Amino acid sequence: MSRIYNFSAGPSMLPESVLKRAAEEMLDYNNSGQSVMEMSHRSKTYEQIITSCESLLRELLQIPDNYKVLFLQGGASSQFAMIPMNLMKNHKIDLVLTGQWAKKAHAEAKKYGEVNVVASSADKTFSYIPQLDPASFSKDADYFYICLNNTIYGTHYHTLPDTGNVPLIADVSSCILSEPMDISKFGLIFAGAQKNMGPAGLTVVIVREDLIGEVAPTVPTMFSYQIHADNQSMYNTPPTYAIYICKLVLEWLKNDIGGLENMHQINQKKAAILYDFLDSSKLFQATVEPASRSLMNVPFITGNEELDKKFIAQSIEHGFANLKGHRSVGGMRASIYNAMPIEGVEALVSFMKEFEKANS
Ligand SMILES: *Cc1c(COP(=O)(O)O)cnc(C)c1O
Repeated sequence: MSRIYNFSAGPSMLPESVLKRAAEEMLDYNNSGQSVMEMSHRSKTYEQIITSCESLLRELLQIPDNYKVLFLQGGASSQFAMIPMNLMKNHKIDLVLTGQWAKKAHAEAKKYGEVNVVASSADKTFSYIPQLDPASFSKDADYFYICLNNTIYGTHYHTLPDTGNVPLIADVSSCILSEPMDISKFGLIFAGAQKNMGPAGLTVVIVREDLIGEVAPTVPTMFSYQIHADNQSMYNTPPTYAIYICKLVLEWLKNDIGGLENMHQINQKKAAILYDFLDSSKLFQATVEPASRSLMNVPFITGNEELDKKFIAQSIEHGFANLKGHRSVGGMRASIYNAMPIEGVEALVSFMKEFEKANS
């Protein structure tokens, strides 16, 4: 068996030890005589899985007690609508436009009220995080919305906007668990699991308790945070197997990696290998300005579309999957999430060096 290095933006690689453990437990989980997939979500055995998934997440991210953790479905994309449905009481929000995911969140929020775009990086194909001027923030906004890590363009906020009493809300789909974060700075964060937490099908929402409550009577029951919080994410059947894999990933982060400080150091090391090469290469170049670069998603180009195509084709032959950039940007993109081993990044850079030599 030979496993590839998968640089996909998502779904993405999972730690090999997690996959092995899941395989071992596939037919008979913990002497229950059944797979986790077959198990009642109301059983004692399953209750332990979801409870320990939540407590591991609370421990790793140091989530304060006044925050709820919700295990939902519908992907990060459902949150683009669910957030305004639940939190847009005065029908006005601020938002920073840093790419496609922020754009989609903007389009959904507009259905519920006024969206003030305080800044945008559309002028340079979203290759940077714009400077924010607090004077342009709305004092009476229900919340201030950002996409913390822009998966498609490879940008990341390295300082958070100071929004005062206005709750900050962030899409953290492609950076959650990649480094420690101060949850108390946010009103709500959310992530689709398929990048850094587990398989697709699970969406995690972490929300400050006081922000949720009664919603407009037209909001469907399934889209009310309060309903899911009151029912410990068991109002209906949660994505049971995805939550189980997420728990294994969190155990790996805690026990094998040693927590988020360590994960951050490893991620910095991996990203530096790639960015240092890109900044010194005569053929390849990074598309994002240094101050806005993401540790997770690294877009790059040769400046020649034909050469980009040739590189992508050859990379596949060499066992590197999904290096093609997003269709809206072109070029290449290496997504190097938590589970991508350092050897994968080193192997990619040696291949890029060979390619550079052969094509210059
Ligand atoms: C992948 C991604 C999404 C979309 O997630 P789905 O689970 O497919 O809805 C949204 N935001 C960001 C930042 C992403 O990376």
